[in-house]
Amino acid sequence: MARKTTTTNPPEVKDEATPEVLPEADPSRFYEIHLAQLERAYGSIAIEPHVRTILSEPKNEIIVNFPVRMDDGHFKLFTGYRIQHNNIRGPYKGGIRYHHDVTLGEVKALSALMTYKCALLDVPFGGAKGGVRANTSELSTTELERITRRFTHDLGNNIGPEYDIPAPDMGTNSQIMVWMMDTYMNTHNLIDKNAQKRIVTGKSLMSGGSRGREKATGQGCVYVLQEWAEERGFRLDGCSFIVQGFGNVGSHAAMILSKLGGVLVGVQDHTGSLHNPEGMNPRKLSEHVRQNGGIAGYRGGESCSGEDFWKLECDVCIPAALELQVTEKVARGLKARVVVEAANGPTTLPAERALEERGIEVLPDVLANAGGVVVSYFEWIQNKRSESWQLEEVDERLHFMMRRAFHETVSYTHLTLPTIYSV
Ligand code: NAD
Repeated sequence: MARKTTTTNPPEVKDEATPEVLPEADPSRFYEIHLAQLERAYGSIAIEPHVRTILSEPKNEIIVNFPVRMDDGHFKLFTGYRIQHNNIRGPYKGGIRYHHDVTLGEVKALSALMTYKCALLDVPFGGAKGGVRANTSELSTTELERITRRFTHDLGNNIGPEYDIPAPDMGTNSQIMVWMMDTYMNTHNLIDKNAQKRIVTGKSLMSGGSRGREKATGQGCVYVLQEWAEERGFRLDGCSFIVQGFGNVGSHAAMILSKLGGVLVGVQDHTGSLHNPEGMNPRKLSEHVRQNGGIAGYRGGESCSGEDFWKLECDVCIPAALELQVTEKVARGLKARVVVEAANGPTTLPAERALEERGIEVLPDVLANAGGVVVSYFEWIQNKRSESWQLEEVDERLHFMMRRAFHETVSYTHLTLPTIYSV
């Protein structure tokens, strides 16, 4: 039985590194913006009124406040969310985000996107999302572990391998998934512990993860971009691209695209922005980020302002950080031909219109970043069947599913939704 609680969000803690927030890009309005996008889509499709009613709000909104002992001995109260949007097509599925600005509205919007993403990719899951308001850059590894274990413990029976299956998202990774799995395994069905492994996906390979999961979202973005390029007769070999966010998704997308001949001319993360018209080496940059926690200080590029980053000459723009980053102002100055929405909800409504007016195409988030949940599904299946697939098999299946979803989206949007996939 899911517990349902409601509470108000704790006061917002602003990080000094966070760029100024424009009203149209206010993250606390993300759910409102999502609903407006949905209304726009409903205007173009025949949808039964009762389906609209069912999808209009998440089924369950779980909020837990839990105390954690910090390294210096004092206790701190954290707020965690698990929003279960819909499970008509299968168990709830979606990532867990750790970020100091996580809000209920944000997680609600992200959970709804998961429902649509799983349906588009024909993955037999519903949609969910979770989050903990925490600034990971200020936490030690042991504090992160205690937060994760406490949060998992407090979620209790609200998650389960056939009921609701978390995965990594912003600020979380395979280690955090393994702590979640371990906590769950030690508190549920102790007789058949191995049957609990698929309680989370995105685990490390050694702990039951899938080959190819770590790069899956970035890989999926590039598969979708390749299909788009083929349709448009556009050469990716030699194309220039910019990436916002150089974490899991952004760095893998950049490394894979550069292997196809793409040139990384601009990058931005929470530590700054860099550009180099001659190109930067994504593998070396990724190693720099691993060692230093951000792109700042990387010598392969020159520092530029956040505003100038978005105006860099390029063919492809890959937002792979937070939502609502591509504002109308950004969209009006963007030089790219195509925006690949690696992040969830990176484009504001006025920006969508501006891009459309300017003929800049958008490969939408529910399609472009679906590679992660597809390979999460593969991981879940492998755990269920006690199998271990080779990377080639994972990539081949992922490629097939991304290609199919791309062509379905295009054929559908050509007919009815030119505003989402501008043609
Ligand atoms: P991550 O934590 O690994 O990386 C996030 C990146 O964003 C970091 O480089 C960080 O510096 C940057 N960033 C944070 N705040 C920023 C700001 N204000 N300005 C510029 N950059 C900023 O996260 P991730 O897993 O790569 O997720 C990135 C996006 O992709 C999110 O929108 C997430 O929901 C989406 N996504 C992730 C997955 C997945 O499998 N991890 C799957 C689907 C979608």
